[in-house]
Amino acid sequence: MAGKKPTRIAVIGAGPIGLEAALRLRQLGAEVRVYEKGRIADHVRQWGHVVLFTPFAMNTTPAGILAIREENRHHVFPDPQQCISGHEFIRCYLEPLARTQWLRDCIQTNTQVVRIGRGQFLKEDLPGSRQRASGGFRLLLRQGEQELLEEADVVLDCSGTYSQHRWLGEGGIPALGEMEAQAHIRYNLDDICGSRAESYRGRTVMVIGAGYSAATAICALAELAEQDPATWTVWLTRREGPPIRRFPHDPLLERDRLAQQANRLAARGEGNVEHVPQAFVQAVEFLGQDKGFRLRARVQGKVRTWEVERLIAHVGYSPDTEIYRELQVHECYATLGPMRLAATLFSMTGDCLQAPAIGPDTLRNPEPNLYILGAKSYGRNSAFLLQTGFAQIETVLALLHQDGLISLR
Ligand SMILES: Cc1cc2nc3c(=O)[nH]c(=O)nc-3n(C[C@H](O)[C@H](O)[C@H](O)COP(=O)(O)OP(=O)(O)OC[C@H]3O[C@@H](n4cnc5c(N)ncnc54)[C@H](O)[C@@H]3O)c2cc1C
Repeated sequence: MAGKKPTRIAVIGAGPIGLEAALRLRQLGAEVRVYEKGRIADHVRQWGHVVLFTPFAMNTTPAGILAIREENRHHVFPDPQQCISGHEFIRCYLEPLARTQWLRDCIQTNTQVVRIGRGQFLKEDLPGSRQRASGGFRLLLRQGEQELLEEADVVLDCSGTYSQHRWLGEGGIPALGEMEAQAHIRYNLDDICGSRAESYRGRTVMVIGAGYSAATAICALAELAEQDPATWTVWLTRREGPPIRRFPHDPLLERDRLAQQANRLAARGEGNVEHVPQAFVQAVEFLGQDKGFRLRARVQGKVRTWEVERLIAHVGYSPDTEIYRELQVHECYATLGPMRLAATLFSMTGDCLQAPAIGPDTLRNPEPNLYILGAKSYGRNSAFLLQTGFAQIETVLALLHQDGLISLR
């Protein structure tokens, strides 16, 4: 792009996808700023005790491995086929990647992107027109108490969904009392057998949800019950039958092992786990620090009430769409992901390995030069895999090249 001002690219989030996107763009000579509201890979850090179900090779890219090797040829990577924990992933890949010559001077941690708008244009101006790109983006940032403004020509929103939980109540709305009790409910994954064991050991715990996070919690609580039989778990799910979905001949062995174990505990009542299917939560009351919660649910048409000491709600996450409220983003009515991509995902079977191939324009938004990538691009659909995000990055590079914003050398 000789003679042209370099394209300013803002990447929101220094998670696995934000870091990888920034690396590829820096290597192509783009001017990149990564804004991260916490520390490097802050979301992965929050579930760092969990073992990833995809092997190391599927969570990394050749470009990332090479960049780390160039920096430190003695760096030791895990076996490509090994499934490692989130903390190990950060230690042996994400942090070394962030420290490479390509990234170390372009990441601003403890910097939250609060809102993004367009210079000159309001949301309703020039609907879907590329002319909006002439305005550039304005980003309102927060660093501690301080607010500041930055500008960019391209924004890649890689901010994930893990910061925003969904609600427990029937129909996805807050159960009665849930908003008031929310600070005491665990929506994120606690390290039940590790740093948080004392909070769960010997307690009555209720777990709500039927995804892999719930399965992880159930297996950990059963392990605690082996150490202390006073640990009891009530597991509420909406559907009938085995709570965790399994896939025939699942090549992701770690994922299938987790599903099998959780389903077995539910079916046999082992590990002091009582599974209650077809349960729809109506009300939650926090009774006080030492007393726990009273929870009311409709179970097969009848109302049941429990008193439990701990409440874990693994009911999924939702993208923060407020951040681009002033931009022209066509959001999916079902998942809140960007519409074009969401439409291609409707046909998915639920197995994240079966992600459909997407055409290049699928990642475009009505708002020019705004791309939503990574876990956030799937909205509430939890079937996102890192390898899908890596493919998205390559697609966006091609689109930016096509638009004359970067040069693919
Ligand atoms: C428990 C768990 C296990 C998983 N296991 C696997 C697995 O085995 N294999 C696999 O392929 N996928 C797995 N996933 C799915 C997915 O790959 C991960 O969620 C992955 O972390 C997504 O990467 P990301 O970069 O898109 O988003 P995230 O990792 O969520 O990163 C987003 C980053 O953006 C930052 N951020 C958020 N908002 C802002 C803001 N406004 N301003 C600035 N920064 C912001 C966050 O602090 C965070 O660091 C798992 C997910 C979970 C929750």
